[in-house]
Amino acid sequence: MKKLVIATRNRDKFKEMKEALSGVPWEIVPAFQFEGSPEVVEDGTTLEENSLKKARVLSEFTGCAALADDTGLFVEALDGQPGIFAARFAGEGCSYEDNVRKLLGLLKGIAGDGRKAAFRTVISLVHPDRPLQQVVGEVVGTIIETPRGKGGFGYDPVFQPLGFSKVFAEMTVEEKNKISHRGKAVQKARRLLQNQ
Ligand code: IMP
Repeated sequence: MKKLVIATRNRDKFKEMKEALSGVPWEIVPAFQFEGSPEVVEDGTTLEENSLKKARVLSEFTGCAALADDTGLFVEALDGQPGIFAARFAGEGCSYEDNVRKLLGLLKGIAGDGRKAAFRTVISLVHPDRPLQQVVGEVVGTIIETPRGKGGFGYDPVFQPLGFSKVFAEMTVEEKNKISHRGKAVQKARRLLQNQ
């Protein structure tokens, strides 16, 4: 079976992706299975550029098709910050809690529409011998004032998707995947892979 390499070093993310892509006519393999697989510097200015770079480097290194995702959080009152810098918003080496604290600090005193935010994921699919394919998944919501819930990761304790009373961190993995930016993007990628 043809191999599709998932460009991530994160074992949890790999597991989640593999599950979401089960049934496609591809063998889903992690980048860390290839010895010496290169670490990619995410120095692009958009999610499209960063996900493409990760997938292209991995595809060139392995000679297989590769899939990479990149996610950002865009907050209305902060002119789209943290955007593509969501992972290191509070500085190099910061924790998820540091990022959430910084975000809540910047939004202090802001109510209503100013707290609107969107998560956006871009997935790039690079085949050695086919044109690039990119798909996008998005979810809009609100940044709440006080963190809630124990599930998920990152900004999940403060992100409440529009139309839901729970934040992502209060949802099961299945509930979150159905409506999340990454979940939607992966389902689109799945549809592409199903026919290739
Ligand atoms: P990545 O591109 O998937 O590594 O995501 C970049 C950063 O965005 C992560 O380090 C998290 O801080 C944040 N992030 C991405 N996806 C989610 C999510 O589903 N919930 C909460 N935070 C997320």
